[in-house]
Amino acid sequence: MLSRLSSTLKPAACLQRGQIVSVLQQKFYATSGEADLVVIGSGPGGYVAAIKAAQLGMKTVCVEKDETCGGTCLNVGCIPSKALLNNSHYYHMAHSGDLTSRGIVVKDLSLDLDALMTQKKNAVKALTGGIVHLFKSNKVDLVKGHGKITSPNEVTALKSDGSTEVIKTKNILIATGSEVTPFPGIEVDEETIVSSTGALSLSAVPKKMVVIGGGVIGLELGSVWSRLGAEVNVVEFLNSIGGVGIDQEVAKTFQKILAKQGMKFKLGTKVMSAEKSGGIIKVNVENVKDPSKKEVLEADVLLVCIGRRPYTKNLGLEEIGIEKDEKGRIPVNSRFQTVIPNIFAIGDCIHGPMLAHKAEDEGIICVEGIQGGPVHIDYNCVPSVIYTHPEVGWVGRAEEDLKNDNIEYKVGKFPFAANSRAKTNNETDGFVKVLADKLTDKILGVHIIGPGAGEIINEAVLAMEYGAAAEDVARTCHAHPTCSEALREAHTAAYIGKAINFG
Ligand SMILES: Cc1cc2nc3c(=O)[nH]c(=O)nc-3n(C[C@H](O)[C@H](O)[C@H](O)COP(=O)(O)OP(=O)(O)OC[C@H]3O[C@@H](n4cnc5c(N)ncnc54)[C@H](O)[C@@H]3O)c2cc1C
Repeated sequence: MLSRLSSTLKPAACLQRGQIVSVLQQKFYATSGEADLVVIGSGPGGYVAAIKAAQLGMKTVCVEKDETCGGTCLNVGCIPSKALLNNSHYYHMAHSGDLTSRGIVVKDLSLDLDALMTQKKNAVKALTGGIVHLFKSNKVDLVKGHGKITSPNEVTALKSDGSTEVIKTKNILIATGSEVTPFPGIEVDEETIVSSTGALSLSAVPKKMVVIGGGVIGLELGSVWSRLGAEVNVVEFLNSIGGVGIDQEVAKTFQKILAKQGMKFKLGTKVMSAEKSGGIIKVNVENVKDPSKKEVLEADVLLVCIGRRPYTKNLGLEEIGIEKDEKGRIPVNSRFQTVIPNIFAIGDCIHGPMLAHKAEDEGIICVEGIQGGPVHIDYNCVPSVIYTHPEVGWVGRAEEDLKNDNIEYKVGKFPFAANSRAKTNNETDGFVKVLADKLTDKILGVHIIGPGAGEIINEAVLAMEYGAAAEDVARTCHAHPTCSEALREAHTAAYIGKAINFG
């Protein structure tokens, strides 16, 4: 038996039938002696790391404080937001006349928001339940409780019934993720003033929604409610939308497309405060450059989306001597070790972009490193995707970055309007833009706005991971007719200056 000093385990004779089964299951999946690894958190970073560790032969325990596994991503992030984006897109296609223009006439169209939410819940339930199944089949021991590091070789799980369970371990991996960053002075009630979590479960379509923050999450959730009928006004401090790393040419096109779909934008604008009065939320904003330009925006739902911050509450870091950086992140070295060499950290609670696939990759290489393997991740090859319609996807450097760093580059562009599949599907908004080194032709960045950008970008990631030149992609056969051919054409344009089907 794993030396878990559980205060809840009682002799089987004292237990009810269901309890006996659950204790037996616990014993079946528990390993003997101390654990090799305790992972704290079962988000995409933690659960993937735990499975990988078990597959590598480590006795692995994952401690999760929430009712379900999967963290932000599966419960209140990537998965529910994509369910709503997908289905609101179908509704919008029917409602906006897009389906009619394709010969599909829908009469008496109406929205069943409850059913839409049920489909989202079912997707979340299936996927979070899938993790429990994967833990069982890989023999990862799941302990439900709030994990606290009580010594460099010990994690104590505080359970919901007030009992504790102590787990001795050789290594600890912190994968506790992140939480919504609060807006000073604006209190979120998750009903009318909501964070991304509340915006995933509104009980009715708002008439007017103000979104604070034109980053990825604000644009995705703003899109959902705009498609379902809300008048959405996005207030953004910066002068462009899309968040960190987006190429500015893409950002401008993106804004135009979303505006065409009905979303409104107030850029270079600061939210000062918000108050509720008579069922209406008044949002006071002012121009960043000229604070004398003030305005009051009205909304029945205010979505606060100004980012996320690392979550490390009551983890015991201070007690064991792990200091956080100025952004609340856990500092780690290139092998994801904290200042205590057998305590590691990955995902949203450390440096780097807060993305599920980044957390997953770190989880895998971190446990391979614990086993003595090499640890390497190229953050320049971590893609970003905004799952609006059209999608936006990018990897590597933006044109502005290259200019700032005085890197000589060439640009290859190809519009989806010249791509046969996009034309056939009547989805011609957007383009692919490839940035390659002027001298060596090495791909430096790929930026896509258009149909299937979130899928197509993965090919660019693969090319960049292998240090490909634009010519390599240009000479790679692509199936016809596909939207990916636009990627090939843009690489051809970067490589020899001219695409085949455009210009
Ligand atoms: C609305 C929204 C949409 C998003 N969409 C995308 C997307 O499309 N693509 C993408 O890549 N990213 C997306 N993200 C970001 C993504 O969800 C995160 O980057 C990702 O979940 C981080 O993974 P993680 O494992 O580091 O942490 P998390 O997913 O936050 O998981 C951390 C886990 O640790 C648990 N935990 C914390 N402290 C303790 C403790 N002391 N003891 C026990 N358990 C603990 C938490 O309960 C949680 O289950 C989105 C986020 C949001 C909010």
